[in-house]
Amino acid sequence: MTRDPRYDILFEPVRIGPVQAPNRFYQVPHCNGMGFLRPRMVAEMRGIKAEGGWGVVCTEYCSIHPSTDDLPQPYASMWNQADIKSHALMTEKVHEHGALAGVELWAGGAGSANLLTREVPLGVTSMPNRSGHPVQTRAMDLKDIRNLRRWHREAALRAREAEFDIVYVYATHGYLLGQFLSPMHNQRTDEYGGSVENRVRLVRELIEETKDAVGDTCAVAVRMAADDGTGTPEQPVSEERREMFSILAELPDLWDVNVFDYGHEMGVSRFVQEGSLEKTMHYVKSITSKPVVTVGRFTSPDTMVSQIRRGIADFIGAARPSIADPFLPRKIEEGRTEEIRECIGCNICYTGDSLGVPIRCTQNPTMGEEWRRGWHPERIEPKSSDATVLVVGAGPAGLEATRALGQRGYNVMLAEASTELGGRVAQECRLPGLAEWARVIDYREQQIQTMPNVDVFLDNHLNAEDALSIGAEHIVIATGSKWRADGYGRYHSKPCLDLGPAEQVFTPDDIFIGRVPQGKAVVFDDDHYYMGSVLAEALVEKGVEVCLVTPENLVSAWGTMTDEQYQTQQNLIQLGVQIITAHGLDEFDGSNARLSCVYTERTRVIAADAVVLVTSRTPTDGLYKEIAGNIESDTSGSDPAPTLHKIGDCDAPAIIAAAVYAGHRYARELGTDMEQSAVVRQDKLFDPD
Ligand code: ADP
Ligand code: SF4
Repeated sequence: MTRDPRYDILFEPVRIGPVQAPNRFYQVPHCNGMGFLRPRMVAEMRGIKAEGGWGVVCTEYCSIHPSTDDLPQPYASMWNQADIKSHALMTEKVHEHGALAGVELWAGGAGSANLLTREVPLGVTSMPNRSGHPVQTRAMDLKDIRNLRRWHREAALRAREAEFDIVYVYATHGYLLGQFLSPMHNQRTDEYGGSVENRVRLVRELIEETKDAVGDTCAVAVRMAADDGTGTPEQPVSEERREMFSILAELPDLWDVNVFDYGHEMGVSRFVQEGSLEKTMHYVKSITSKPVVTVGRFTSPDTMVSQIRRGIADFIGAARPSIADPFLPRKIEEGRTEEIRECIGCNICYTGDSLGVPIRCTQNPTMGEEWRRGWHPERIEPKSSDATVLVVGAGPAGLEATRALGQRGYNVMLAEASTELGGRVAQECRLPGLAEWARVIDYREQQIQTMPNVDVFLDNHLNAEDALSIGAEHIVIATGSKWRADGYGRYHSKPCLDLGPAEQVFTPDDIFIGRVPQGKAVVFDDDHYYMGSVLAEALVEKGVEVCLVTPENLVSAWGTMTDEQYQTQQNLIQLGVQIITAHGLDEFDGSNARLSCVYTERTRVIAADAVVLVTSRTPTDGLYKEIAGNIESDTSGSDPAPTLHKIGDCDAPAIIAAAVYAGHRYARELGTDMEQSAVVRQDKLFDPD
């Protein structure tokens, strides 16, 4: 297939100072939970993006000196020779595919607590650590500033030695340089504080010095926010931020423009739509002649073309779309746009950084496994036999297993009890704000439809006899889970017996099928991720008066990992949901709910007509057990028994990403020694050899 000429503009080369990008697809710096701790995993992951057609592939935030350290969040570092060797692993792989490699040199300021290096953090003023660690920065004196400039220069020189093509001056995201620019944080009275000229001084010096050090061969990029957080929704950009851009306009070779509010820039699809930075950053191109890149969770090539044609940006910047589909550019280039695995905006990828573990992605189960397991997002081993595989259940686990087994060439039969594909995703994507999650189904359905070796049987509820009578050599059960109606979860370590009458007790599954409470409902959220708050919103939309009760101190507390907690709580407050934190639900008698404080013995009673229990789930593993029993009791010895596995929520209820991963892993490993597959390659600290 050939590409649609409408998209030609996306494949034009673009000059960036002394280097040239082969096209307009630009993977902006993004964290990945690997950093300096796992250099080979990073290198393979970035190399695959270049192979997938991204014309520029950048690192994550890359510390210039031990005075900037963010552990337990893994970051890259450019401190010494070992770092040069580590990064060279990546630049080599990126260059192999003709792409440019960029490095985001980073000084943390009050954003880094230096828990590993134990260096005193340096700040524009003496200010408390932004992440809540009990430490303040030392207000940098002029000697500290001179040192910082030297460290930045030395790091730039190392970056060149590691063969990077683009070197960043990173002046946003609340880190040190952003704090120097800030009218709020910069309270200095010397030549680096006060006037706009003074506050941009350090950034200007660093741009000039980086150009002086490496500018003959490397482009110098600046990442900076289009606004400074002092504007209004109608007028987000202050006059002085424009002035800053004007002062610096022609100094770098490239502008990487973001927005001040990270929750907006990195917003989940529940709260932030594709292309939403435009209303804040659109003016930058009118101020500079240098190429501009920005992000916006772009997955539609038409939106991308529109960004370029309307003069909003010169490059299509992407972190998440490049994670969900490292081959997005290639698919556009080869006229295969319907095969794009679109990001769903769930931010599970971000939890790698939040939790200090390698990146995961809901849509792309190979993300983070490129080196460790040798998984490629587009290629997979052909089948190792002519066997037929029966997959039972078409939720995310069963769908991904079917898709990947089909890709391997196996004959696959997918049986689904309901009349639609998607399992829990089909239900959850109908909840407020979660429509984009349907992309988990769309991509797989589209792929499966093109596979003659895959047959899908909807409206087919199988029992053990049905499943065995099909005669498949392999059976994989992906029958999901059901929400519990007895309150069992983290708060109640055994079922809570004082919940009744049954017709006034609800679970998420009830609401999915349209059984909705009347009057006032207590949503008891002991799950702590999105389900409790999304259901609260859904019920408000249906006219129910909602009180959300959680034993945690925050609504949807685990949403801090995906950077959506703040917006979630804000949203519920704005919707008028009553919120009671740090309380458990002990009892419900049909008209009152008794709650107890998690810190004290104190209890309180609130009027309620219903309770919605979002606590935990029971695996739907009856079919698996039945088949296993039948296989075991079959002593006829006539046919060889099929292999039997369970995957996804029916094995262990978890997030959608885990179900997709389980389905993918089953498909990859069918025909291998699955018992051994937990043993994976380990990336070693500080050892790029
Ligand atoms: P997961 O997240 O693990 O993929 P889901 O709950 O999303 O699990 O999906 C499970 C799917 O399995 C649902 O669509 C459900 O209708 C289907 N299912 C459950 N039991 C059977 C069965 N006995 N036969 C066929 N399909 C089933
Ligand atoms: Fe997109 Fe979710 Fe994948 Fe992140 S984890 S890239 S938000 S689909």
